[in-house]
Amino acid sequence: MREPATLSADLLSWYDRHARAMPWRVPPAARQAGTRPDPYRVWLSEVMLQQTTVAAVRDYFHRFTARWPEVTDLAAAADADVMAEWAGLGYYARARNLLKCARAVVAEHDGRFPADHAALLALPGVGPYTAAAVAAIAFDLPETVVDGNVERVITRLHDVHTPLPQAKPEITALARTLTPQARPSDYAQAIMDLGATICTPRNPACGLCPWRDDCAGRLAGSATDLPKKTPKKPKPIRHGIAYIARRVDGAYLLERRPDSGLLGGMLGWPGSDWNEAPGEDPPIRAEWKALNTEARHTFTHFHLRLTVKTALVPMDRAPARGEFHEEFRPGDLPTVMRKAFDLAQK
Ligand code: SF4
Repeated sequence: MREPATLSADLLSWYDRHARAMPWRVPPAARQAGTRPDPYRVWLSEVMLQQTTVAAVRDYFHRFTARWPEVTDLAAAADADVMAEWAGLGYYARARNLLKCARAVVAEHDGRFPADHAALLALPGVGPYTAAAVAAIAFDLPETVVDGNVERVITRLHDVHTPLPQAKPEITALARTLTPQARPSDYAQAIMDLGATICTPRNPACGLCPWRDDCAGRLAGSATDLPKKTPKKPKPIRHGIAYIARRVDGAYLLERRPDSGLLGGMLGWPGSDWNEAPGEDPPIRAEWKALNTEARHTFTHFHLRLTVKTALVPMDRAPARGEFHEEFRPGDLPTVMRKAFDLAQK
């Protein structure tokens, strides 16, 4: 295998020709002409991209930056507006941390993201990956950024057979040897692009890869088997009941979930606990009817089967919990709650 400096130089010249266009990205030619990325947009895109694809994030990114063009705008936003705009993107703790982080940047850093890895890491909701990504991409610091794409490229390039997640320290150490001092911002994005477009999980296009003659995995014929992964335990199934009450004037009974826990801070249908055998817990006295299909949704650690019950209630009946919303937009609900609503509509 050639020297790391030669490998990274070859990857950078590949990136100069093939960089993907992204709404938050400064293309390599503009970068070299002196345009700097906006740290707010880099940070926002990185938070949105965790556990989510570029295709799913684009529209959300455009909506957020149109509504809150600067970090100071986001910091001043109402929590409920941000949670509603995030609805459907999942992993709602990210949205809560997004607001906390924007407010900390305004309160502690004068509205400017710090150009320093340790200071970035100290911000709410910013973990080692996001700190490294913002430091490298926004501030051109020689940080090593390792996401799923980079893990795949590095395990193949070095023919690493240790399974994930145990292989993570080894992968990071190998990736670090390749991180150049010159153009670290472009390099961090280049290796991610290589993983996303060429070194893909099933059919890597090795013939188009700038590292094809160096790649130990390709030469050994093991590339498509890498990275190895420790098999995951099957997810348990939990059950729950969602109560969809509609008042005769068309208002819906909704409840904001507590800030901590799953879907924290999001609006949703009042419901039971989610466990093996949930008990009835209707939020208002009514003649409830169960639908004959369940809403199904998969969270990180379990599958949920949600029984949906509906009722029509008179104007003068007060709920035991939740509030009636006359202006209800299904798009403000998290995906699982929207699935329940869609079933009820049918
Ligand atoms: S040669 Fe193939 S397997 Fe190796 S890094 Fe390039 S695309 Fe991936």
